[in-house]
Amino acid sequence: MNKKVILVDMDDTLENFTEAWVDYANKRFGTTVTPEEVTNWDPSVHFENVTHDEIYDLILEDDFYYTLKPLKDADVYLKKLIDDGHEVLIVTSTQHKVIPIKMDEVLFRFFPFLTWDQVIVTSRKQMVRGDILIDDAPHNHIGGDYAKILITAPHNRLFDAEANGMIRVENWAEIYDTVRRLAKE
Ligand SMILES: [Mg+2]
Repeated sequence: MNKKVILVDMDDTLENFTEAWVDYANKRFGTTVTPEEVTNWDPSVHFENVTHDEIYDLILEDDFYYTLKPLKDADVYLKKLIDDGHEVLIVTSTQHKVIPIKMDEVLFRFFPFLTWDQVIVTSRKQMVRGDILIDDAPHNHIGGDYAKILITAPHNRLFDAEANGMIRVENWAEIYDTVRRLAKE
């Protein structure tokens, strides 16, 4: 098996960002949007009578980050990838103002085997060198010089992953199997 450098996104890849954001917004604004309705990358378009800035300001609040939960078995399979000998790097476009709370209360809380020297913060993921990117956002895969694993999220369900050179997966068990397959090639 080849050892790979695996780049792993945070939001909607390691944790339930969109689901938590929609819940948090509903509680704040008395709306009833469901995560499944959020088919647009920008969730604010699904909220009536709430502005774009009102929705985006929520994810600058420290309290929001206490509501995030890891995706099912993300910790188990991420640890297995490391134990298999791969180098795992977290690549996130986290806003600079919330880096401390998000690292402490989300990444290192739910994935305590990770350390800060495994984290790269950038919104230009194509500039990062790695063999595989695991990410829910098509725009982070397009133009990247890595194998592309797209994890399904409500906003990307209508995106044709295969036609765009990406491998679509539904969960972390499928991510693990896909990486094992790529590592054998
Ligand atoms: Mg993401």
